[in-house]
Amino acid sequence: MEFDEHLYDLTVIGGGPVGMFATFYAGMRNLDTQLIESLPELGGQVAALYPEKIIHDVAGFVPARGADLVENLKRQLFEFKDQLAIRCGEEVTAVEKQADGTFILKTAHRVTHTRSVLVAIGSGAFAPRPLAVDYDHQLDNRKVFYFVKRVADFADKEIAIAGGGDAAIDWALTLEPIAKKVHLIHRRDKFRALEASVERLKASSVELVTPYNIKQVVDQPAAGLVIQLQVAKGDDQQTLTVDSLLVNYGFTSDNRVLKKWGLPLERRSLVVDEHMQTAVEGIYGIGDAVTYPGKVKLISAGFGEAPTAINHLAEALYPERKQPLHSTAIA
Ligand SMILES: Cc1cc2nc3c(=O)[nH]c(=O)nc-3n(C[C@H](O)[C@H](O)[C@H](O)COP(=O)(O)OP(=O)(O)OC[C@H]3O[C@@H](n4cnc5c(N)ncnc54)[C@H](O)[C@@H]3O)c2cc1C
Repeated sequence: MEFDEHLYDLTVIGGGPVGMFATFYAGMRNLDTQLIESLPELGGQVAALYPEKIIHDVAGFVPARGADLVENLKRQLFEFKDQLAIRCGEEVTAVEKQADGTFILKTAHRVTHTRSVLVAIGSGAFAPRPLAVDYDHQLDNRKVFYFVKRVADFADKEIAIAGGGDAAIDWALTLEPIAKKVHLIHRRDKFRALEASVERLKASSVELVTPYNIKQVVDQPAAGLVIQLQVAKGDDQQTLTVDSLLVNYGFTSDNRVLKKWGLPLERRSLVVDEHMQTAVEGIYGIGDAVTYPGKVKLISAGFGEAPTAINHLAEALYPERKQPLHSTAIA
C-alpha cells in the first residue's frame, strides 16, 4: 500500500462524463486536483454501456456517438494534463474526515490526502458482469478477459467472444482482421446492436455460435482453453477450443459504498444543497450520483452542476480568490 504524501486541493471520485468535465473545470480554477476512476478507462456509462449510441441532447454537441463525446471530454481534460493527476483502475473504498477538516481516501493501492472531495460516481463502481460458470480465476487476464487493453495482444489468436450486445459485436469486428479466427457465442439468435453493425458482422468471417450458453471453461495447456457449450432450450452440446475468451456481458454497478462514507442518501442518491455540497462540509456531489428537488439524470444537467460545485469549493478553499464569470485562454 502506497501512502501519497501530497495534499490535493480536490479529489474527484468517478471519471464519467460529469467527473471528467468537473476535473477539467477544476484545472481552469487552478486547483491541485486528482481524478480517481475505478475502471481502466475514463467515460463512465457512456464509454461502458453505449459508446455507439447517438447522443442528441448535449449542448453544443451535434448528434454524434457516445465514444465521440468521451473523446472530446478527454481532449478537453488533457489540456490540463500537466497539472492534474488522473488515476484509472482504482476504486475509492473509504473517505475519512480528519480532525483538521481534510480527508483521507483509500483505494486498494493507495492512501491519499485531500482538502475536498467531489463525488461523481454515477450509480456506483462499474464491474464487468462475470461469466455465470465456475472457472479458475487464475485464468483472468491471461486467457479469460473482460477488457481489451491492447488489441495487438490478440493478434494471430483464436478468440471466442461471449455476448450479444454492441460491445461484443464491436470487439468481434475489431479483432477479426488481426485474429486467427473469431467465434461469437450468444444465447440467442438475435443480437442487441446497431443494425449496421449486425450487417457487418454477418458479412464478416466471424463464426456465429448461437443460440448457445457457456457451461464450462477449462484450461488444457496442451490444447488450449476448452469451452463447453449447450444449446439454449435443448440438450445439444458442443466444444470450442480457443486461445482466449473475451467476455462482454455488460456491467453491474453498486453505490452501497456511499453509506459506508457516512453520507446522507435519499433513494440511494446523495443529497446535496444548492452549492452541490453534501451534509459533510468539504464533500460535494454531482451527476447521476446526487439528488435535489428537480434533479434530472442527464449529462447536460451534470455538466451544469460541475461549475456550481467547483466554484463554490474553490471559494471555500481560497476565500481570497474572486469568483470567475467566464473562461479565458489557457496558457
Ligand atoms: C443506455 C443509456 C443511454 C443514455 N443516453 C443518454 C443520452 O442520450 N443523453 C443523456 O444526457 N444521458 C443519457 N444517459 C444517462 C447518462 O449516461 C448519465 O446521466 C451520465 O453517464 C452520468 O454521468 P456521471 O459522470 O454522473 O456518472 P457515470 O457515467 O455513471 O460515471 C461514474 C463513474 O464513476 C466511477 N466510479 C464509481 N464508483 C467509484 C469509486 N468508488 N471509485 C472510483 N470510481 C468510481 C464509475 O466506474 C464510472 O466510470 C443514458 C444512460 C444509459 C444507461
